[in-house]
This record gives sequence, C-alpha cells and structure tokens, in this order.
Amino acid sequence: MTTLMAVSPAADTPALRQDMIEACRALSQSGHIIGTWGNISIRVVDGLLITPSRVDYAVMQPEDMVVVSWDGHKVSGTRPPSSELELHRLLLQQRPDLGAIVHTHSLYATVLACAHRALPVCVEDMAQIIGGEVRCSAYVPGGHHRELAIAACDAIGDVATAVLLANHGPVAGGRTLAEAVTAARILEKAAFLYVNASLLGHCAVIAGEAVAEERDRFLHRYGKEDIPVMSGEDVACHTT
Ligand code: 13P
Ligand code: ZN
Repeated sequence: MTTLMAVSPAADTPALRQDMIEACRALSQSGHIIGTWGNISIRVVDGLLITPSRVDYAVMQPEDMVVVSWDGHKVSGTRPPSSELELHRLLLQQRPDLGAIVHTHSLYATVLACAHRALPVCVEDMAQIIGGEVRCSAYVPGGHHRELAIAACDAIGDVATAVLLANHGPVAGGRTLAEAVTAARILEKAAFLYVNASLLGHCAVIAGEAVAEERDRFLHRYGKEDIPVMSGEDVACHTT
C-alpha cells in the first residue's frame, strides 16, 4: 500500500471560487464539458467546496458555490450542490493526496468509459500527472449518486489520479485546482491517443517502473532542478 502525501486544504476565498468558475468556462470552451455536465470540487478547511448543480457557467457567481462538511451536510450556500457531490466527497476522503477534483464528460475518455476499458499509460505527460493506469468503474445507473461514488472509489485505487465512470465520463484530481484541470485535459488527450493508436493496430504502453519514475520526478523534481548536460566526450550525437 502506497503512503499518500496529504495536501493541505485551500482557503475558501472569493478568488478561489472565481477560479472554479473560470475553470468550468475554460473546460466548456475547449469542449471537455457540454452544457452543465461537469463539476469541480476543492478540499477546504470546513470540508469541500463544490460547484452548484445545473447552473449555467456563463452566469455562475462565486456565491453560488456550496460548502459541504466531510459528513455530507451543507455548511453554506443557497443552491443545491452538484448532483455528483458524493463522488467528490468520497474520492477526496479516500485520497488525501488530492486537493481538487474535476469531472467532465469529455469525448475520448467517454469512448473508453462506454467500452468499459481502462486507459493504460501511453504518453509521458499522462505518466507524470496521472501516474498510473486509469481504471473504469462498474456501471451504475444515472441518479444512483452514492453507488456511483462507491464504484469510483473502488476503481481508482491509490496510485492514478483519475478514474473513468462506466457509460458516463472521466474524473481527474490534482493537488490544486490548476493541476486537476490539467489532469482532466491530459486524460482526454491520452484517451484520444490510445483510441487512435489502437485503431492503427497497436498502442505501446509505458512500463510500470518508468511510469513510477516519471510520477516521482513530476511530484518532487520537475522544474526544480538543472538537468546535467553531458560533455561532447561523454556522448556521441548521430545525425543523418
Ligand atoms: P451537476 O450539474 O449536478 O454538477 O451534474 C452534472 C453531471 O456531470 C452529472 O453527472
Ligand atoms: Zn457526469
């Protein structure tokens, strides 16, 4: 069992709430979300801060966000929280290493979710930000939100930062909102690559040790270290 490094809760500020709205709008703009079929949550001091249910992102305001305690009670907010509250609440409780969760209905990830197929690690950025194979949950009929949340928790495990909801769509997490949004985008990109490379006949998958090394580099060293440059005597450069 991996020891997960817990993230600190974010401060619930108007700026953070505005960031959630901007993230919804950006994901809509890029086609990862159509209509209001998507939602975002962030781990905060009192529980989780989550987008309201079925509110048009164009008119969503910071005060529309809802705060829900870890035991599932509304702490503040006038609107109903996202109908996928349980998905966010249970995943954030199970995975202390995640500070934010983004659920979309993006196209290629949903292709795999409809085929009940996992997404293996097939590309470098996925190895870094998702860190492992993205499994697909068991199918749960719409409206059974708690059962869906439990199925997602069963499928995600304790390595990958994402999971596919069968016949529904992807869920991706990160230490921060920005990282969760990027994970949702990289997940969709990797699903696109996997589906299309498979159509070409084969998608090569990155080996487990290489994925673990890339994940570790992303979490602890990426952007923080100089990469040693080899001298001309150390390396021969062959060009054609
Ligand atoms: P909400 O608008 O209630 O967040 O729901 C959208 C959705 O993704 C349902 O699965
Ligand atoms: Zn959904």
